Amino acid sequence: MQKYYLSGKTFETVDPRSGEVIASVAEGDKEDVDLAVKAARHAFDNGPWPRLSGFARGRIMMKYADLIEEHNEELAALDTVDAGKLFSLGKTMDIPNVANVLRYYAGAADKIHGQVLKMSSELQGYTLQEPVGVVGHIIPWNFPSTLFFAKVAPALAAGCTMVVKPAEQTPLSALYYAYLAKQAGIPDGVINVINGYGPTAGAAISSHMDIDKVSFTGSTEVGRKVMQAAAMSNLKRVSLELGGKSPLLIFDDADGEICVASSRVYVQEGIYDEFVKKLAEKAKQWVVGDPFDPNTRQGPQVDKQQFDKILSYIEHGKREGATLLIGGKPTGEKGYYIQPTIFTDVKEDMLIAKDEIFGPVMSLMKFKTMDEAIKSANNTRYGLAAGIITKNLDVANTVSRSIRAGIIWINCYFGFDNDCPYGGYKMSGFGKDLGLDALHKYLQVKSVVTPIYNSPWL
Ligand code: NAD
Repeated sequence: MQKYYLSGKTFETVDPRSGEVIASVAEGDKEDVDLAVKAARHAFDNGPWPRLSGFARGRIMMKYADLIEEHNEELAALDTVDAGKLFSLGKTMDIPNVANVLRYYAGAADKIHGQVLKMSSELQGYTLQEPVGVVGHIIPWNFPSTLFFAKVAPALAAGCTMVVKPAEQTPLSALYYAYLAKQAGIPDGVINVINGYGPTAGAAISSHMDIDKVSFTGSTEVGRKVMQAAAMSNLKRVSLELGGKSPLLIFDDADGEICVASSRVYVQEGIYDEFVKKLAEKAKQWVVGDPFDPNTRQGPQVDKQQFDKILSYIEHGKREGATLLIGGKPTGEKGYYIQPTIFTDVKEDMLIAKDEIFGPVMSLMKFKTMDEAIKSANNTRYGLAAGIITKNLDVANTVSRSIRAGIIWINCYFGFDNDCPYGGYKMSGFGKDLGLDALHKYLQVKSVVTPIYNSPWL
C-alpha cells in the first residue's frame, strides 16, 4: 500500500448502520503533525493568507461556501455513512448551515479593526487586531461538519493558518472539505487536515511548541488533558467546548407538544403524570432506522464503543432503581441501533442523572416549586445549556438568569444561528463557538504607541 503519511499507518472507519468497514484512512502521528505544523507556520509567516485584506479573504471564503453547497449531497452522505447522521437533516440543515457559517465570517473578515487610544497629552496610540497564528482544532464525532466549520470559519476570517484533527470515528467529510478548500483558492498550508487518534495525533497538537492556540471540542476528561498539555508546553491559548448534562424545566402551564433532546427533564408535579403518558406515546412513534430513510428520526450510534457505553448506562439506571418507561435495548437490527429510552423516578444522585450519556436516553424527574427546579438544574458540574417551558414571563426571566449555563432556550430547544455564541459555563468549558465572540478567539490585540511630536529619541 502506498504510504500517505510519515507514520505509514492506516486505520479503518466503519459504517454504523452495519458495523462494516467503509475505508482505510491514513493515520497521522506525531511526525505528521510536525509536518502539518511546519506547513501552517510557513503559510502564516511567509504566505499570503494573513496578509490579504479581510475583504479578499472573505471573497475566497464565499467561494468555498458556494462549492460546499454544490457538493451538498456528497457531504451529507459522507456524514451519514461515517457518523450515522440523518441524511435528510444533513442535506437541509448541517451542510447549508456550514456554508452559511463561512459566509457569516466572510462578511466579518473586513470588519476586523482595532481602536484609537486616548493616551496622555504627549502620546498617541491605537490597537491592532492580529491573527493569533497557527491554530490546532480538535473535533469530536457528533457534528463532523458543523464543528469543523465552527472552528475553521472564524479562524480563516481572522487570518490564521491551521491544523485540524477530526475525530477518529468520523474522518471522511473533513478530507472532502480540505479538497474543496484548495479548489476555492485557499492557499496551500492554510488548512491542514490530519486524521488520527487522540492520544497520538491529538496530543501532538495540544503539546506542540509551534502551535499558538488550540481549540478543542469534546469530553471534559480529554479537555483537561488538552489544557494540561498546553500549559506544560508553550502556554498556548486554549478554548474548550466540553460535555454537558443539560436540564429542561417544564412548568405546569406548558400544554403544547414537546419533543426534546435534553438528557435531564424536570416536570412540575401538576402535569407530571399526563406528561409521562403523552411522552411514552410519542416516543413509541419515534422511528429508529436507516439514516438515509426520510422517515427516520434517530439513526445508529456512531460506533460499537459508544453503543456499548450507552447500554451499560441503561443497565446502571435499572440497577439503581429508576423505572424504565420505554426502550432500554438495542433495536435488534444489524448495526448500532438503540431504542429511544426514557427513565422515570430518577433520583439526582443516580449515575444516569449525573453523567453525560450522549445517547438516546432521557431521565425524567418531578419538581414542586421554581426554586427547587433551579436548584436541581444547577446541581451538576456541567453548564452547557438549559431549556425552560412556561408561559409565565417572570418565571422564564428568573430561571434564565439563575441557571449557570452558556445558553438558555425559552419555549424552544436547540435554537441556533450563526451570530449566537455557544459554549459552556463550569466544567462545560470556556470560549465560545459562533458569533463575533468566536472570531475574537482567533485574534490578539497589539498596542502601538508613538509620541505626537518632539520625540526625545530623534
Ligand atoms: P473525546 O473527548 O473523546 O474526543 C474529542 C476529540 O479529542 C477527538 O478528536 C479525539 O481524537 C481527541 N482526543 C482524544 N484524546 C486526546 C488527547 N489525549 N489529546 C488530544 N486530543 C484527544 O469526545 P468524543 O467522544 O469524540 O465526543 C463527545 C464529547 O464531545 C461529549 O462529551 C460532548 O458533550 C462533547 N461535545 C461538546 C460540544 C460543545 O459545544 N460543548 C459539542 C459537541 C460535543
